[in-house]
Amino acid sequence: DSRLPSLRARRLHLRYGEFTALDGVDLDVSPGRVTAVVGPNGAGKTTLFHCLAGTLRPDGGHVRLGGRDITRLPAHARTRLGIARTFQQLAVFPSLTVAENVRVGAEQGRIADPAAVERALRLFELDGPVRDLPAAGLPTGTLRRVELARAFAGGPRVLLLDEPAAGLDTAEVEVLARVLRALAADGTALLVVEHDLDLVADLADVVHVMTAGRIVTSGPAGHVLGTLRGTAGP
Ligand code: ATP
Repeated sequence: DSRLPSLRARRLHLRYGEFTALDGVDLDVSPGRVTAVVGPNGAGKTTLFHCLAGTLRPDGGHVRLGGRDITRLPAHARTRLGIARTFQQLAVFPSLTVAENVRVGAEQGRIADPAAVERALRLFELDGPVRDLPAAGLPTGTLRRVELARAFAGGPRVLLLDEPAAGLDTAEVEVLARVLRALAADGTALLVVEHDLDLVADLADVVHVMTAGRIVTSGPAGHVLGTLRGTAGP
């Protein structure tokens, strides 16, 4: 099935005991677009991310990929369907080399294509000598790229990125924004949960603002971020 599916969340509810972390969230992550979720600490962004990736199951509501209800599918099954993710806390295998880490992503993904490993290494500029170094001890910026390459190597249709700019310097953030925009232009559906509003402004087509478990504002990035910063958006 080569149709490009959207990932859609509808009326998601999730509680931690008495505390409501998601209070009826609707969200579309559409092909060819970068969708961003921003909001203060504790708003529920990470919880929403987990519900989309399959590491948490909502108490109510649905998650669909294309026409398929995946609400009850575990994370690894979603990965097979083409929903790849990165982690806020880096989660590379320290004793594996960069190339081996990326190969794991290719094997877990939607398509097991050996050429995809080389494509991913090239795209994230990991095809030099660094490819054969163990991941342990590499700088954060490099490890973020290893994670992205690993997610990309599986041929994802949806890429979920949890704070991809954390620990990156300005130049690295610019490169990241360019690569992610290229992936979206290629038809991938991207979701970014991010604190760095400059990256979101550079990158996102649509921004959703979450507060207290709800999406309170949505719209084009320029407009929403302009409002958030208290200035007139373009
Ligand atoms: P941050 O930007 O700090 O990561 P967030 O928007 O991602 O915040 P979540 O991590 O989704 O927010 O948390 C939403 C709320 O749920 C917070 O108030 C948090 O304290 C609470 N929470 C998160 N995980 C648990 C848990 N396992 N048990 C109880 N409460 C939790």
